[in-house]
Amino acid sequence: NLPVVAVVGRPNVGKSTLVNRILGRREAVVEDTPGVTRDRVFYEAEWTGHDFWLVDTGGWEDRVQGIAYRVAEQAEIAIDLADVVMFVVDATVGITTTDEQLLKVLRKAKRPVLLVANKVDDARTEMEAAALWNLGLGQPHVVSATHGRGSGDLLDAVVAAL
Ligand code: GDP
Ligand code: MG
Repeated sequence: NLPVVAVVGRPNVGKSTLVNRILGRREAVVEDTPGVTRDRVFYEAEWTGHDFWLVDTGGWEDRVQGIAYRVAEQAEIAIDLADVVMFVVDATVGITTTDEQLLKVLRKAKRPVLLVANKVDDARTEMEAAALWNLGLGQPHVVSATHGRGSGDLLDAVVAAL
């Protein structure tokens, strides 16, 4: 009965890459093509002696049909199961209308949310990530899932929220 940490966000923001970074191994499927992770996938994870389930989800999208609808539904189930939600956005793109729609879902779910600004590979993107304070989710946790920067601080915040 470990606590559950769900990783949600629209397709291609780097959720699976971040999950692999946290696990320290390549298990979650990373793809340049959006929508590869279709289900909720549970991984057992640990940080500073705290064990938890890390749940990778397919990319959440609004008003979609067919497979994409099922993917969105799985993300919503993961949010319901979660003790803490990592809401991943792509700092190189900024907030899209899809991100805003997902934010509405998250507010309704009333779960603790950590805002993760991913793909902050350089100083310029770091400046852009500062604008994410405007979302009202508190401090944006700035990370680069591919380079590994910020993941330790993010995990400290995750276990503090458990
Ligand atoms: P998901 O759909 O949200 O699970 O996203 P993926 O983890 O599959 O990643 C989608 C694409 O973004 C892949 O090409 C990744 O290599 C890339 N990506 C993920 N994290 C980063 C990052 O921190 N920086 C950069 N530049 N690219 C990233
Ligand atoms: Mg994925």
